[in-house]
Amino acid sequence: MRKLSLAFVLSLIAAITSSAAPGGAIHCGKLLDVRTGQLLSDQIVTFDAEGIITAVGPATSAAASGVDLSMATCLPGLIDVHTHITGDPTSNGYAGLGISVPRQAVTGVKNARLALRAGFTTIRNVGAGDYTDVAVRDGINASEIEGPRMLVSGPPLGITGGHCDDNLLPYEYHHKKEGVADGPWAARSKVREVIKYGADVIKVCASGGVLSKGDQPGTPQYSLEEMQAIADEAHKLGRKVAAHAHGTQSIKDAIRAGIDSIEHSSLIDDEGIMLAKQHGTYLVFDIYNDDFILQEGAKAGMLPESIEKEKKLGRLQRENFRKVFQAGAKIAYGTDSGVYPHGDNAKQFGKMVEWGMKPIDAIQASTINAANLLGWSEKVGSLEKGCYADLIAVQGNPLSDVKVLENVKFVMKAGSVVRNDFAK
Ligand SMILES: [Zn+2]
Repeated sequence: MRKLSLAFVLSLIAAITSSAAPGGAIHCGKLLDVRTGQLLSDQIVTFDAEGIITAVGPATSAAASGVDLSMATCLPGLIDVHTHITGDPTSNGYAGLGISVPRQAVTGVKNARLALRAGFTTIRNVGAGDYTDVAVRDGINASEIEGPRMLVSGPPLGITGGHCDDNLLPYEYHHKKEGVADGPWAARSKVREVIKYGADVIKVCASGGVLSKGDQPGTPQYSLEEMQAIADEAHKLGRKVAAHAHGTQSIKDAIRAGIDSIEHSSLIDDEGIMLAKQHGTYLVFDIYNDDFILQEGAKAGMLPESIEKEKKLGRLQRENFRKVFQAGAKIAYGTDSGVYPHGDNAKQFGKMVEWGMKPIDAIQASTINAANLLGWSEKVGSLEKGCYADLIAVQGNPLSDVKVLENVKFVMKAGSVVRNDFAK
C-alpha cells in the first residue's frame, strides 16, 4: 500500500476531476490489504475509464466524492476456482438427461449473475457440457449478460466409463460424453479440440467421483502416461490443467504429470502433500458442499450410490484439508458450485475456518492464491494499482467473523457497480 505523497494526491484529484477520463473513486471506511492481512482505515480506491485501479491510499478531503462506503469494509472481488455454472443441483442423475444443451446455457446465464452478485467477480469453470460455459463467458465479455470474469474449460477430459463420461444409459444408446478420450494421443487430440472451441483451461478427471454412476472416488482413471500427455500438450498451447482427483494414487500421478491444480484432493496422503509442495501444485478442497449433498442430495435427484460415497469421503476430505494447510501446501478456494446452489459460494469460508484456517488464510485462498493459480495475479485478487477495480464490500470485520462474506452488500466489476445495498 503506498504512502500519501503529493504526486498521489495530485493524481487522485486529476482522476476525480478530469472530465476526459471519467473513471471514479470508492471511499472505504475499512479496506483489507489481502497480502498483509492488515485492515486499513479510511482509504480511497480510484480507477480509470477502463475500470483499472489507478491508486489506493488514505482518504483526503479532495477525494470526498465517489461512492461512499465509509460504513463498510472493502475487499478485492472474490475468486472461486471450481464452479459448474451451467448446472444446478436439480440436474443430477437421471434428471440431467432431460436438460438440453441450450437450456444448460440459459441456466449458466442465471448462475453467472448469482455468482457475481454474491461477490465472486472471477470464477474458473471446470467442466460444462458442450461448451455452454464458453458461450456464457463470451456473453459476459461482450457485455450482453451480467457475470464474473470467467476462465472456462468446456467439456472435461475423461476415460470411457469414468467420472467425466456419462454412464447412466445402457449400451444401445451408444451415449458418451464429448470429453471422453482414451490413450495419450487421443487425449492430446482432445486437448487441441477443446482449445479450438474456446477452452482457457483444461479439466481432466484423474480418479473416480461422487456424483457419477458405477465408479469409486478412490480408484485411478487416467494413467500417469495419459496425464503427462495432457499436461504437456496443454502447457505447450499455453493452458493450465485442473485435475479432478479424490484418490490417493491419482492425486500423486496428477502432480507428477505436472498438472497445475488438484481438485477435491480428498484422500491425499503425506507423500502427496510433499509432492504438491515440491511441484508448487495448488490443492483445491471443496469442503462446504458435503453438507449440502448429505442433507439435500437425495431430494435433488442424486443417485443413492453418490450419497453413500459422500458419507465415506466428506469427513476424510475435511481432515486432510486441515493436514494440508498445516503442512504449508498451496490452497486455492474452489467450491464445486452447481453441486450446491450458485450464489452460496461464500459458505465455504466458514468451513475452512472451522477446519483450521484463520479468516485471512481463507480470504487469501480466494484472492491472491486463486489469482496466482489462474495466472491472473496482475489483474485480479488484490486492490492494487494496475488491477481491475473488482471490489466488494461487507458490513463488519471479516477477520473476526469470516461469515460476513456470506452477505456481500456491494459489488463492483471493472469500475461498474453491480449492486449497492448500502445506497438503499
Ligand atoms: Zn467439479
